[in-house]
Amino acid sequence: MGYDCIIIGGGAAGLAAAVFLGQAAAKRRVSPSVLLLEKGQRVGKKLLATGNGTCNLSNIFATEKDYHGDKNLVISALKALTIEDTLAFFHTIGVDTAVREDGKVYPHSEQAGAVLDSLRLEAEALGVTIRCQQTVDKLTPCKVGWQVWVEGTPYTARQVLVAVGGAAAPALGGSADGYRLLTDLGCKKTPLFPSIVQLRTATDYVRAVKGIRVDGRISLRLDGKELATRTGEILFTDYGLSGPAVMGLSRYAADWERQKKGNLTAHLDLLPDWDKDSLCARIAQRGKLRGRTLEDLLTGLLHKRVGQTVLRVAEVLPLTRPTDTLTAQECERVATVIKNWSLAVTGTQGFGGAQVTAGGIDGAEIDPATMRLRRHEGLYAVGEVLNVDGDCGGFNLQFAWSSAYVAARAIAANW
Ligand SMILES: Cc1cc2nc3c(=O)[nH]c(=O)nc-3n(C[C@H](O)[C@H](O)[C@H](O)COP(=O)(O)OP(=O)(O)OC[C@H]3O[C@@H](n4cnc5c(N)ncnc54)[C@H](O)[C@@H]3O)c2cc1C
Repeated sequence: MGYDCIIIGGGAAGLAAAVFLGQAAAKRRVSPSVLLLEKGQRVGKKLLATGNGTCNLSNIFATEKDYHGDKNLVISALKALTIEDTLAFFHTIGVDTAVREDGKVYPHSEQAGAVLDSLRLEAEALGVTIRCQQTVDKLTPCKVGWQVWVEGTPYTARQVLVAVGGAAAPALGGSADGYRLLTDLGCKKTPLFPSIVQLRTATDYVRAVKGIRVDGRISLRLDGKELATRTGEILFTDYGLSGPAVMGLSRYAADWERQKKGNLTAHLDLLPDWDKDSLCARIAQRGKLRGRTLEDLLTGLLHKRVGQTVLRVAEVLPLTRPTDTLTAQECERVATVIKNWSLAVTGTQGFGGAQVTAGGIDGAEIDPATMRLRRHEGLYAVGEVLNVDGDCGGFNLQFAWSSAYVAARAIAANW
């Protein structure tokens, strides 16, 4: 049996496209046959993990500036389905949303499952057939449109939408399938690298504070020149650094990692609200507190274990020394480490730890007004498989929804 449309991939973009297609059909009172093929046992595995299970589904401040790669695709998508339209769309399918001060949008229930269930239930109610455990491994053009191959068996469709996502987080369904499906058809892709990912650094001191979170500032410098800086939560781990601030600038480290030219260093400011002189004065004052050893010099200003590690990095030792033996020069060294703890970056945790893939199918291959592949009639691609990646904060899901809308609109126009 031939379908009017086959959607490959039941993630954020594929499920949203299924609903958009169903809504367009209902509006025009036509009954096209739409089939969604998903590789996993269930649809939306990655979606369930988003925002630590709370699903940061959009950001009311999103503009093309929050994205990297082919921005013309982003501009077209965000114009077609704006943030307002997106929130209205979710409202129509039963997801009430809440907006945080920083613009991040979540389902009111703060459950990613609510977003997934609402999309899936709505798609099915609109007549879309969903089949799981169907890994698409080849696309071939045919008389009516396309043959979509699953383990040697072809499905036929007039139009096909590729929504298979990117290579990030393979444990959650991330794969390179989409790049291969489309490069086999002659499409070009840009180099791939992980983004929104943890950093590996020199671990001599970091390991001692693993599991501790600080609200600080991190900057990345390449051969001493600042590439990016972020303020927010930094988490120490046994391999290096994680947490929102670190993930937020990790794209620069991943880009460096694939070329490995020059020395990349991370610089931590553990007390960004303090200037160095006031900090130095306060450390000297703390040194005069009665009955203390260096072990507790910074306790109360920093997490105790972080404070002790700072002293080790600054080589103000031994920790059993009374604090009143502290010299002005040592106070200066301690303040310097607190304001600028420098760590050699050795790489990232790769696609396994990444939330998103930077790079993908080259924007030159795609018509931004329809998300159709320029060299192929009836074939469309949306979401993370394209050369678009957003910063941390709801931008990647927003591109999934908006690009899905553009493609669904174009596909429905051919019915
Ligand atoms: C842990 C984590 C947290 C995240 N949190 C957020 C967040 O809070 N906010 C945000 O904006 N972004 C977040 N992201 C990023 C966001 O989830 C993705 O950018 C988004 O899901 C991409 O949508 P997509 O539909 O293109 O791909 P996906 O959602 O990955 O969906 C692709 C689907 O295609 C299926 N598939 C793959 N290959 C085949 C094949 N050959 N045949 C059939 N099916 C196939 C996959 O199994 C998958 O279900 C997070 C990512 C991760 C990993």
